[in-house]
Amino acid sequence: MNKTINLQIKPNFIEQYKKGYPLITPEYIFDLEDIDDGTIVNLVDNKKRFISKGYLGRQNKGYGWVLSLKDEQIDTDFFKIKIKEALDYRDDFFKSSDTTAFRVFNSQGDGIGGLTIDYFSESNNQAGCYMITWYSNGIYKFKKQIVDALEAQVNYKAIYQKKRFDTKGQYIDDKDDFVSGERVDFPIQIKENGVHFAIYLDDGPMTGIFLDQKVVRKTIMTKYSKGKTILNTFSYTGAFSVYAALGGALKTTSVDLANRSFEKTAEQFKINNIDPSTQDIIVEDVFHYFKYAVKKNMLFDMVVVDPPSFARSKKNTFSVSKDYTKLLKEIIQITKKGGMIVASTNYANLNMKRFRDFIDKAFKESNSKYIIEDVYALPKDFKVSKSFLESDYLKVIFIKKIK
Ligand code: SAH
Repeated sequence: MNKTINLQIKPNFIEQYKKGYPLITPEYIFDLEDIDDGTIVNLVDNKKRFISKGYLGRQNKGYGWVLSLKDEQIDTDFFKIKIKEALDYRDDFFKSSDTTAFRVFNSQGDGIGGLTIDYFSESNNQAGCYMITWYSNGIYKFKKQIVDALEAQVNYKAIYQKKRFDTKGQYIDDKDDFVSGERVDFPIQIKENGVHFAIYLDDGPMTGIFLDQKVVRKTIMTKYSKGKTILNTFSYTGAFSVYAALGGALKTTSVDLANRSFEKTAEQFKINNIDPSTQDIIVEDVFHYFKYAVKKNMLFDMVVVDPPSFARSKKNTFSVSKDYTKLLKEIIQITKKGGMIVASTNYANLNMKRFRDFIDKAFKESNSKYIIEDVYALPKDFKVSKSFLESDYLKVIFIKKIK
């Protein structure tokens, strides 16, 4: 067992850590620089009194995470308790017959920053697959204890992992993401709100679905799609389009730059018994597509826009914080009067107020008017810690264009 190191909290921030602030960062804590990833540290005040305990693991965000306000041992039993609490909190998900994929452990929201665990199963009546994502080399040092703690408490077919611990949070390709259990033939078919998705846990960073949009997707399917034409921009595997088609859309159009998106989107339609040739799946830069749609006087009843926070294509770079207003102005032009724009962002550094300002500016500059119909944040399985609201990253606004 490595010995625990004491680190002093800067005076102005002691109260915050006493209340459970979880991020270990050099802005708030002295002498962090030379300590190895994976070291357990006690955060103390200026009189060396214990405040909280954590581990070091450098991520794109911060230097590590607080694990406990008690001076306790960080071992397999510690991880077992955290995982047990997280599993209990998702009990209704495990009992659901129409949703068989969801997040079972959401980093600091469940008490361990830098670690997420997602669950994917063909049916909740049988053992499923767990996917652990490690966000730093520091948390990965506890792999044995964490995997043991998970295996002891769940009925699993297999455990897979993703390492995302270079400094930009990029996926590290180990060629083999299998951890334990029996190897699975992917894709497996999961259900979310009764909709099927093909999932791959052994094929690079992407699994085929972002689990945090389940409530938004269901809303689109049940409330807004019937008889409508829908444009899904930055469509990835077309999840929003599949829901819309199942909700009775006249037609969906999915636009994504990545070549793989064509085949992936067609696959998701097919496993839901929708003939992909009845839908438009377009591999193109969305900004090119907007020009084309304007030239052809195309107008959609609904446009979904859920871009990555940053993206670089051959000609453009896109960033949510600089370009969202411009993006919305393009979309306003091709949305029918009375139509809906579903504007989404997962960019944590953009708060709801600034996001609303972007929307307001886009409509003003387009000489158009809107009302906000619905607002969504993360679903229940993506638990957020009250001491760290920065992690409440998802913002989705249903905007009705009225002029
Ligand atoms: N909305 C999707 C997730 C989007 S992930 C969903 O709900 O599943 C981001 C996607 O944006 C990626 O698939 C990427 O290929 C695509 N992308 C990035 N820049 C783009 C651009 N300029 N034009 C079109 N697609 C782009």
